[in-house]
Amino acid sequence: MVVPRPLKALDYRVPDGMTLKRGDIVEVPLGKSSTCLGVVWGSGEGGLDEARMKAVAHRFDVVPLKEELLRFVAWVASYVVATPGAVIDLVLRVPDALEPEKPRVAFRRSTRDVAKLTDARRRVLEVAADGLARRVGEFAEAAGVTSQVVRGLITAGALEEVVLPPMGSGPQPDPAFAGPVLSPAQSKAAVHMIKAVQARTFSAALLDGVTGSGKTETYFEAVAAAMQAGRQALIMLPEIALTVQFLERFAKRFGARPAEWHSDLTHAQRRRNWRAVMNGDVRAIVGARSALFLPFRDLGLIVVDEEHDTAFKQEDGLIYHARDMAVVRARIESCPIVLASATPSLETWINAESGRYTHLKLPERHGKATLPKATLIDLKREELGAGEFISPTLTQAVRDVLAQKEQAMLFLNRRGFAPLTLCKACGHKMKCSRCSAWLVEHRYRRKLVCHHCGADRNIPPACPECKTANAFIACGPGVERVAEEAKAKFPEARIAIASSDTMHGPRQVQAAIEAVADHSVDLLIGTQIMAKGHNFPMLTLVGVVDGDMGLEGADIRARERTFQLLHQVSGRAGRADRPGRVMVQTTDPRHPVLMAIASGDRDAFYRTEAGKREAGGLPPFAKLAALILSGWKEQSVREAGEALVAAAPIAHGVQVWGPAPAPLAMIRGQSRMRIAIHAERNVNLQAYLRAWLAAPKLSSGVTLSLDVDPQSFM
Ligand code: ADP
Ligand code: ZN
Repeated sequence: MVVPRPLKALDYRVPDGMTLKRGDIVEVPLGKSSTCLGVVWGSGEGGLDEARMKAVAHRFDVVPLKEELLRFVAWVASYVVATPGAVIDLVLRVPDALEPEKPRVAFRRSTRDVAKLTDARRRVLEVAADGLARRVGEFAEAAGVTSQVVRGLITAGALEEVVLPPMGSGPQPDPAFAGPVLSPAQSKAAVHMIKAVQARTFSAALLDGVTGSGKTETYFEAVAAAMQAGRQALIMLPEIALTVQFLERFAKRFGARPAEWHSDLTHAQRRRNWRAVMNGDVRAIVGARSALFLPFRDLGLIVVDEEHDTAFKQEDGLIYHARDMAVVRARIESCPIVLASATPSLETWINAESGRYTHLKLPERHGKATLPKATLIDLKREELGAGEFISPTLTQAVRDVLAQKEQAMLFLNRRGFAPLTLCKACGHKMKCSRCSAWLVEHRYRRKLVCHHCGADRNIPPACPECKTANAFIACGPGVERVAEEAKAKFPEARIAIASSDTMHGPRQVQAAIEAVADHSVDLLIGTQIMAKGHNFPMLTLVGVVDGDMGLEGADIRARERTFQLLHQVSGRAGRADRPGRVMVQTTDPRHPVLMAIASGDRDAFYRTEAGKREAGGLPPFAKLAALILSGWKEQSVREAGEALVAAAPIAHGVQVWGPAPAPLAMIRGQSRMRIAIHAERNVNLQAYLRAWLAAPKLSSGVTLSLDVDPQSFM
């Protein structure tokens, strides 16, 4: 039995009269007084005294989890060096989906009259006069009364109960609803994917197409093929902010929306969707990372859109990479997987170039749209005033675009007003008291904010160090500061800021996108939240305010990430029949990333990067893992790290580095140390880690987390 806890499989007795098979979902006692869900894993190893074993309490009346899902769970657990229980926890996230749906009831006017007729009650009865059945809340809203009033009428017998049929899943997407006419390149890629779906075996393809080439349109044909074959399709998106637009596009193509799976759903929606995925009613579902652990009845296709996106890496709790695990799930389910991107991860690109994945290419934008031309603005040759960040060249370009009644976007991947606030008298830098990070000034909120723990404080009237009053100066730009400068430089323009501080939740992001799309904004100033996936027909200029940002750093993927981000944001320009331009401000115009952006030669950049990774013995040419230790006492964290490293087994081809203070040495008051494990490609890294981590016991107060294939090195 595997229970959703970080535990090994447990043994339970099967009570008389109950029969269980592998995959059955049950309730079992755990610990002294509590119970939890469990999944029957097998018959156990035996040799235990049956009389002393606890018995299974209950078997849920649902189809057992499929063998494929159980194998997937075991595979993931083994890969990330966790127990199957820790992974089953991701599968059993909606416990009440296991119970049959309660009948839904509504009320309608009965024949009985009421004696005490208040004004409010009369209004309800007026609404009810049409004889239609409504739920309590619907009556209350329609009559403008509290639900108390409605309930009073139910008790008085003036409204009677009717049982509604169970909530249907609504109209089903229709694969033949509105198929597009594909271009020859699109058609070639689509035919390949459709054949892969029909083959009902595992295969992997990289759908590699420039922004606006119609990747979505093209993989929709594979989704249609999966539905036509009576199977289910899973489409994974990196961020729920992208799903609203996606749902509408899907509905245009298929006549109905797909099911959704992400953290923004209501409890009832999650419950309904989980069950519908399990019993096969859901034919297509779009979701975030966690959708990978749904109990599909018959999975026929997985699409991972924007496959390079770092959001696919789950960094809390059980650390796993949803894109990589999606490939595993497809293999186990014997279905194809399509990874789509304009800027694939280097790992995927290498897999495609080496022939492990099929490389499907869409080299041109759809229709008349062309790719924007990128130029670099050398900031060393520009006259910029103190505290100014928009160069004269970029300013002129924005003016020209606005004069043409077109739109521009200034991109800066930094929230707030300024990333650093310091005292000009003594140089004191304002830092978070709980994290090793500067406080970022947010001028609209009038606060200094830590971007790591979210803590904020008022801007103090005087420097806490030297007590000089009003001595703070803002260093460096954030979107708020660029917006202020833009308001001064382009006073006529309608300016909007888009960052996660100004927009809360996917609906607000969607509203901002619509405002740009319908041209009620002339100049958009945004962070990466605006970088991907959106179609802005009138946007013809993208100005990258700080092209140097993120180019170097401890992260082995810093260059790749910056290239991807700049490329994605460039892709926002010139999406319709108006050609677009991209201008990147930099102090280092000879940097390989920026030269690749300017030349548009993506593959040359990828080849160089791949060469560097290979020469440096870095992934995917070697394996990496990281151990992160954290705790309140720095001393104990350090000692625990040293003890752990001392206990590391010696193995050929494996090197252990550290412990070293993490670049973010403190988060929320906890000290952090990192240990890096580097292994040659042929080493069984998981076996090594399991052997190592089985033995040592951590001192109390220190937490250890293991990150296989780390993406973040903070
Ligand atoms: P990508 O996902 O590669 O960035 P999209 O799928 O968003 O590209 O396509 C860009 C735009 O071109 C969208 O507005 C899309 O509807 C349109 N488009 C692409 N292919 C076709 C086609 N074959 N027929 C009609 N419109 C298309
Ligand atoms: Zn902090």
